[in-house]
Amino acid sequence: TAKIEPMPIQILPNQLIDQIAAGEVVERPASVVKELVENALDAGATRITIDVQTGGKKSIKITDNGQGIAKNELALAIERHATSKIDSLYDLEHLGSLGFRGEALPSIASVSRFKITSQQAEADMAYCIRSDGGQISGPEPASHPPGTTVEVTDLFYNTPARRRFLKTDRTEFLRIDELIKQLSLSRFDVGFRLAHNGQIVRHAQAGDDEPLIHQRISQLCGKDFMEQALHIEHQRGDLKISGWVAKPNWNRARADRQFFFINGRVIKDKLVAHAIRQAYQDVLFHGRHPAFVLYLNLNPELVDVNVHPTKHEVRFRDTRLVHDFIFGAIHQTLAPARMQEQTRATE
Ligand code: ADP
Ligand code: MG
Repeated sequence: TAKIEPMPIQILPNQLIDQIAAGEVVERPASVVKELVENALDAGATRITIDVQTGGKKSIKITDNGQGIAKNELALAIERHATSKIDSLYDLEHLGSLGFRGEALPSIASVSRFKITSQQAEADMAYCIRSDGGQISGPEPASHPPGTTVEVTDLFYNTPARRRFLKTDRTEFLRIDELIKQLSLSRFDVGFRLAHNGQIVRHAQAGDDEPLIHQRISQLCGKDFMEQALHIEHQRGDLKISGWVAKPNWNRARADRQFFFINGRVIKDKLVAHAIRQAYQDVLFHGRHPAFVLYLNLNPELVDVNVHPTKHEVRFRDTRLVHDFIFGAIHQTLAPARMQEQTRATE
């Protein structure tokens, strides 16, 4: 048997630390897009454009009209655990932003050729900073309207194992498209434009008045979804749910029209899924899936988003309360549809 040579304990080099962290948050081009668009939203942008080449493998370029980054903070933005969003445990427990870990930019920068260009509205000019697999250069003067552009080129060029896991351009692009769909349903007041290989694929105009909201949902979920969906709006204490649920007879073979947001965040949660399934249980055929666009809002103290680096999961302080609230709200909304079903069944 081969003898394992003992190695001294040592702290890993920074770049390797970032690459290891990237392993958790940067799985594929869509994860890069998620982090960068969330940063744009946190910066107060009202217009975000996303340009990707070859499914995001060659390049991802995201431009926003948000508050920008000061020249002397550009280098800090790509440092590990550097964030402008929280500075205490109290802030973490009363989170109002999507980001808070200060990990996305250093992680992405460590596995790509990376460039940020930013102009603050009140600053004399724009500056850009580059990082080539973690090697930083700049800031240098640049030209940019107020806001920020982040360009990520050659993702995983220096981590071949990761690169090999990428799927075809088309598959990687579809993931990005799905993500942009989710994000554009999360913020009607923000305009989104997505282009692939120079061609505009999606365009959602900013505006949160009813006609524009209906138009956006129709574009993303189908005109027929919007036409038949039941509006839902319930509140109990700190819990509030609103949105649209499809009538039971407008069901789907796949769970492909299901959007659930918790405090503005796209969430995959077993408890939530169970509550919804149960609300539809007696009106949906086995194996069929309901469709919905739902927004749950609750006091940030009642939900922990610091469960996983990707923040796709949450932990509720009172799981029973949340489950029963969601179930009750949907069950009640479906009551007229349920009565129709029953009348039909007894005829
Ligand atoms: P986090 O979002 O968790 O704070 P990131 O690594 O994603 O960490 O970003 C680090 C910091 O860089 C942010 O806290 C923010 O101050 C700044 N930043 C990143 N992207 C933008 C942007 N598009 N506009 C303005 N500031 C940004
Ligand atoms: Mg972030």
